Amino acid sequence: MPTPLTSDAVVLRTINYSDTSLIIRLFTEQFGKVTVIAKGARRPKQGIAGILQPPNHITVWYSYKAGRDIQTLTKSEFVERYAGLGNHLAKSAAALVAVEMLDRAVHDSDPHPILFRLITSTLHYLDQVEEDIATILHFYQLHLAKQLGFGPQLTSCGQCGQPMKKATLDNRTGLLLCPRCQPGEGITLGIKALEHLHDLAKTHISTVTGLKPDSKTSKEAGDFLLNHLYYHVDGMSNLQSIKFWRQVKT
Ligand SMILES: [Zn+2]
Repeated sequence: MPTPLTSDAVVLRTINYSDTSLIIRLFTEQFGKVTVIAKGARRPKQGIAGILQPPNHITVWYSYKAGRDIQTLTKSEFVERYAGLGNHLAKSAAALVAVEMLDRAVHDSDPHPILFRLITSTLHYLDQVEEDIATILHFYQLHLAKQLGFGPQLTSCGQCGQPMKKATLDNRTGLLLCPRCQPGEGITLGIKALEHLHDLAKTHISTVTGLKPDSKTSKEAGDFLLNHLYYHVDGMSNLQSIKFWRQVKT
């Protein structure tokens, strides 16, 4: 017998299926990542295809059967409408990077309430702010890494343990190393970027917009975070949304 379940969820990915249906990957608050089918969702009369798109924050009702890979969606409605994302290229690109990273990072049926709060608050602030979009995305990426168990060591060299004023991401170990231990080329963070990442690690998302890094600092932090996540998280490479983000980020 199928069990009726409900949860808040963020839409991670949606693909068309058959002539009228959608298959939707969700990160649910209660049950982790779940894939559902919305039969007939693309029929104009149903009017729900727009709800079932990334990065929407919705409530879903679905019929769950153990052993089935795809569950059957029965109902969905908005929790929060991100009206500010739809018409703003940089905001929507950042939001799509955030949900695609989450999709790559989490496993099926493995709930993670802190990550759920992180993604929904990130989407909320991306929707609300007018600037600092990259800083909000970087906050998200740093805390995503931390929650996955890969928070970067920002203050002391990963090899010799000395305090760092400059650091390079070592592509053999994925650690940040001082210039003495890693004199070669690579993704490098100056003192301002190291301090900025440290601030991002300590602050609450509601105060992120006060940090105001200069563009060089922001770029160094962004390049590092992306490569750090690529290195440490299985399946986190060649994100589709990154190209779009690079084209439109402000
Ligand atoms: Zn060192």
